[in-house]
Amino acid sequence: MSANKVTYVSLSADDPAIDAGFTSAIADARATLGATAPLRVAGATRPGVDGGTIESRNPADARVVVARVSAAGVNDLRDAVAAARAAFPAWSGRSWQERVAIIERAAEIVRARKFELSVWMILEMGKNRVEALGEIEETADLLAYYAGQMRANDGYVREMDRLAPTDRNVSVLRPYGVWAVIAPWNFPYALLGAPVAAALLAGNTVVCKPSSETPLSGVKLAEIFHAAGVPPEALTCLPGSGRIVGDGLVEHPDVAGVTFTGSYDVGFKRLYQRFSGEFPKPAIVEMGGKNPALVMASADVAQAVQGISRSAFGMNGHKCSACSRVYVHRAVADELLAGLGRAADAVVPADPLDKGVFVGPVATKQSYEDYQRYVAIARQAGDVVRAGGAVLTDGARAHGYFVRPTVLAGLPRDHQLLREELFVPIVAVETVDSLDEALARANDTKFGLTAGLFSREQKEIDAFFDRIEAGVTYVNRAAGATTGAWPGVQPFGGWKGSGSTGKNIGGLYTVPCYMREQSRTVCQ
Ligand code: NAD
Repeated sequence: MSANKVTYVSLSADDPAIDAGFTSAIADARATLGATAPLRVAGATRPGVDGGTIESRNPADARVVVARVSAAGVNDLRDAVAAARAAFPAWSGRSWQERVAIIERAAEIVRARKFELSVWMILEMGKNRVEALGEIEETADLLAYYAGQMRANDGYVREMDRLAPTDRNVSVLRPYGVWAVIAPWNFPYALLGAPVAAALLAGNTVVCKPSSETPLSGVKLAEIFHAAGVPPEALTCLPGSGRIVGDGLVEHPDVAGVTFTGSYDVGFKRLYQRFSGEFPKPAIVEMGGKNPALVMASADVAQAVQGISRSAFGMNGHKCSACSRVYVHRAVADELLAGLGRAADAVVPADPLDKGVFVGPVATKQSYEDYQRYVAIARQAGDVVRAGGAVLTDGARAHGYFVRPTVLAGLPRDHQLLREELFVPIVAVETVDSLDEALARANDTKFGLTAGLFSREQKEIDAFFDRIEAGVTYVNRAAGATTGAWPGVQPFGGWKGSGSTGKNIGGLYTVPCYMREQSRTVCQ
């Protein structure tokens, strides 16, 4: 019995094959909870004394140790980069068709292990079954899509025009060398696996670092790439701290390029501005958002409520694309606010391993503390908390990081909660009098990741697409006002302070970001 494919537009995973897959994967995971994952550098197991051990804990019950992952330190980092550098000539010297075949095999393994990987992800960071399975399917699709892009572009080797009949001109895209990949905890498989695959397909060798909140994701993905045929020296995963491994990769002179996905503060200030040394080096830096949804007087308000609540509260607001600001036309503001309040109140956070749960706990202790701090800051601004605003510690939720989705309305115009990325399930609603005002306020941010509009007027839809400053835009999307993304369908990436390349993940232009052009002319 094969299971239906789950994506980010799936509302549920109501399918006996999926239930059976989860039941067996949960039993397997429970049998090995708390096991130690050793550090492997260039294929060799190490004691992991250099960087210590990361205890990955279950946010639904923080007493439970999910895994003990040996972390890398400075010596491991030095050796991993040296091995990747030494492996570069052989890996880049293989034909692109061979690399494509290996990455396609990795995609198949990810798909074959989807329940196992989903369960470990739920245990490490608390997303629900549908979101976890969706991410694993997305990871496999990203790998396959990038491999397909190499194929569709003949490995990026192109015959060019001639100025003289005796000259032959060819443009070739070639890899850089050792590529570092640094990933966040919210999409620990897709956002580690996809850049690793793109870098490898291009011919680079890779040293990658998962978030220290989700260290197992990196261990498991590296295992899959190696099983698919990537030589161990060409890819090392270094679980470890941002300060030691992250900073170490950024500062290493032999790291030729980097892909970072994470916050603006780390990505821009600590990484992008420091990465290049003696000469410019490519840095693909995907960062946060402060994503607006605009609701006009002509909108289907019920559709807007559904889209905004799924986007703002789904996965506890832990998506860089989560909706966090709403600019609603005065004519429909009361109706929208009432609907969002009801939607927030209807959410019952519970153990995300259970079937049918919409949200679990927030993923980290830091998020739990952030949520409480933001609610306290909101309350200082007056009577602005319209729904939620509390943590949940009753019954089975006593030892987890459970919070209620929260709706704010009437914050002062320049309030910090309308400017900063919060990354927890809090949405702020502001009333406006026109689309012009909504667009001006929506664009008044350093971020430019995603944005949504609810309107039934074509003129408003055209104006929104022309004037909104965001890399990913949606109109009338009930499945998630500002969220969603799928390789080859809805590429995903940010403008302004949300992304460095202006090229979207899972899109037509991703793989070339990992390569540089060489123009080859042979004269007779
Ligand atoms: P983060 O910036 O705290 O950490 C991201 C990664 O950087 C982690 O692996 C971390 O260990 C590492 N790191 C920390 N300090 C470092 C340093 N000094 N040098 C190098 N690396 C360092 O982000 P997070 O909390 O893991 O993830 C949430 C953030 O990611 C949010 O801002 C979210 O919007 C963003 N995000 C963006 C996208 C996108 O596609 N634009 C996707 C997912 C998440």
